[in-house]
Amino acid sequence: MEKMINLRDLLMHEVQDLTSAEEQIIEALPAMIKKANNGTLKKSLQDHLEVTEMQLQRLDQVKQLLENENGGEESNGKERKGFLGGLFGGGAHKCKGMEGLIKEGEKVMGEDMSPEVLDAAIIACAQKIEHYEICGYGTARAYARELNLGEVAELLEETLNEEYEADDLLTDLAVGKLNQQAETADGSEKSRRSSRSRSNGKSKSTGKTGSKSASRSNGSARTSKSAASKNGKAKKTASKSASSKRSSGTRTNKSSGRGQKKSTSRSSSK
Ligand code: FE
Ligand code: ZN
Ligand code: FE
Repeated sequence: MEKMINLRDLLMHEVQDLTSAEEQIIEALPAMIKKANNGTLKKSLQDHLEVTEMQLQRLDQVKQLLENENGGEESNGKERKGFLGGLFGGGAHKCKGMEGLIKEGEKVMGEDMSPEVLDAAIIACAQKIEHYEICGYGTARAYARELNLGEVAELLEETLNEEYEADDLLTDLAVGKLNQQAETADGSEKSRRSSRSRSNGKSKSTGKTGSKSASRSNGSARTSKSAASKNGKAKKTASKSASSKRSSGTRTNKSSGRGQKKSTSRSSSK
């Protein structure tokens, strides 16, 4: 791969990375769908597989736009073309991050477990994947905005919002029902009704995250500060769009963080 010299190059790399990620997800989802026990979970994953196929096509559109964009006014157009040739035409870049997430998920789902626990594990695996995508698309969108590539940014945002929706749906499934079913899958009565107030049963074994984390649960809730500063463009992107963006990787919506988090009110916590 040729040397990346500017943000545009990095955007192209991210788009390539996301392409690989989506391709891997399309390969991995059918096994997850097959293993899922709960009908709603099965259906959600099935739906997301279809959505994912659209997302892959959307990335093709993004690449086309970037390629066309590239031939034109840029001073180093020739160089860029060479870079693009290497990036989009040439050998496939495999997203190692997604590869790892999927491998880890396959390993967990291969364990001997009850159907209820398996469903909870599938959700966790799927949400890790969604979060990775949310980060990737959010970052790519921020780059596109910075580069004034409006159409590219919009396409990326469309997918970003779909990933958020998928993530929210999985949280609702987990927190609303499936975690609890996993909790009592051994036939035992739920002994601590108070645990209902926790968003996720897992918190009892990971009390380490802090006493205030009760409403958080499995998934890591993003700390809005660090995420906002990570891509640094919060200021600029905010001025380009009316809504106040928390960070490159996030949208404005009701909930302040990701993860299986039921409460939507907290935005900063310790
Ligand atoms: Fe996706
Ligand atoms: Zn990668
Ligand atoms: Fe996704």
